[in-house]
Amino acid sequence: MPTETVETLIVGGGLSGIYAAYLLSRRNKSFIVLEARERTGGRILSHEHHGFFSDLGPSWYWPAIHPKMAHLIQTMGLKGYRQFEAGMGCFQRSNGVVQTVGGYATEPRSWRLSGGMMALITRLREAIPENAIRCNHPVCRIEKKFPGAIVSVGELEKEPWARFRTSKVILALPPRLAAATILFTPNLSHHLTQAMLKIGTWMAGQAKFCALYKEPFWRKTGLSGQAFSECGPLGEIHDGSNNNGGGPYGLTGFVGIPAAQRNQQQRLTGAILSQLATIYGKPAAQPSTFFYRDWAQERFTATPFDQPPMVEHPYYHPPAGQTSIWDGTIHFAGSETATQHGGYLEGALTAAERAVMTHIVEAVKIEKDALRIGDEIK
Ligand SMILES: Cc1cc2nc3c(=O)[nH]c(=O)nc-3n(C[C@H](O)[C@H](O)[C@H](O)COP(=O)(O)OP(=O)(O)OC[C@H]3O[C@@H](n4cnc5c(N)ncnc54)[C@H](O)[C@@H]3O)c2cc1C
Repeated sequence: MPTETVETLIVGGGLSGIYAAYLLSRRNKSFIVLEARERTGGRILSHEHHGFFSDLGPSWYWPAIHPKMAHLIQTMGLKGYRQFEAGMGCFQRSNGVVQTVGGYATEPRSWRLSGGMMALITRLREAIPENAIRCNHPVCRIEKKFPGAIVSVGELEKEPWARFRTSKVILALPPRLAAATILFTPNLSHHLTQAMLKIGTWMAGQAKFCALYKEPFWRKTGLSGQAFSECGPLGEIHDGSNNNGGGPYGLTGFVGIPAAQRNQQQRLTGAILSQLATIYGKPAAQPSTFFYRDWAQERFTATPFDQPPMVEHPYYHPPAGQTSIWDGTIHFAGSETATQHGGYLEGALTAAERAVMTHIVEAVKIEKDALRIGDEIK
């Protein structure tokens, strides 16, 4: 099997990996992104219906506290809009009874992206050479070589079907997933492997739905669309409409029951629609379209450790405090390695910037050393 040589390999084509590629591309560096899925975006996933994109992964960013996201969206020429929150909220008790409660605006204000969050990935990709992104390329092994590393692509139990030699690897995927699915040679230390496995992947155990309608019937009865439920199957619901005034209009949110109890999708869809009808009235049971994604079932997002629901947002940091290993050959990116805003889209950008900047600074240091040694030899 031929081995392709490249300066930098980015493992993972989610926001962190694609942003790292964008940053390297702007600096005229050579790189390849290896993405396991047939698409880029990772946890970002937007489904189109009548020109409107519903987010089944992240939909919100918070310009007041996430400056990198706000800046990147502006730089890419994209537009955001405020989450619709006008009107009363609903609360469903554990016995199923629905109460109307005072609505409130979230603080800091949540924003959605026109064109769905996927628009950000699409725009970033426009600035990256097309042949530098290889989808359907799951990395299964990384071996340290002197110098650099050999990265193999394929299924663990089979012979790899593609191989790359590289000086640097940017691991732009959740550290828990990397530790659980990629073989490293030599072995990573027990301490580092445990640290990687213990970093929970944010929202990996969640399932999200979007139901789209021609009319925003809930708004007409004074409801904002925001609801919380103690009885389920949905735990949290929001308005997920287009903001152009012409629809489609949507209700979107998260399934509140644990991953293990969500295995019969058809029955679950029926239960979700029936719950929406109980909260918002009969028209809610008949959306023009319905999208659903269970992230806990996605092998390139979740591991068995991610199945139990995460109760709190963890304090994220690089695994065992290490931003790189193997003398700077492997750099950690991915939102769950960011010390600030870890788990969020903002964290994905922060971690990518850190990986690319340390990588470039190191490359410059090595170049300077080589020049100095060259001068000394002369
Ligand atoms: C339902 C849901 C709602 C969310 N809501 C929000 C929100 O409103 N706001 C917010 O800020 N954040 C939210 N998040 C979190 C947000 O999605 C993440 O922070 C962000 O997308 C992480 O990007 P990433 O690139 O670090 O990781 P990922 O998006 O997970 O990307 C990792 C990539 O690596 C690939 N990969 C995995 N294994 C391999 C392998 N072996 N070889 C090659 N490639 C591999 C994956 O396919 C994926 O493309 C939400 C997440 C979910 C699931």
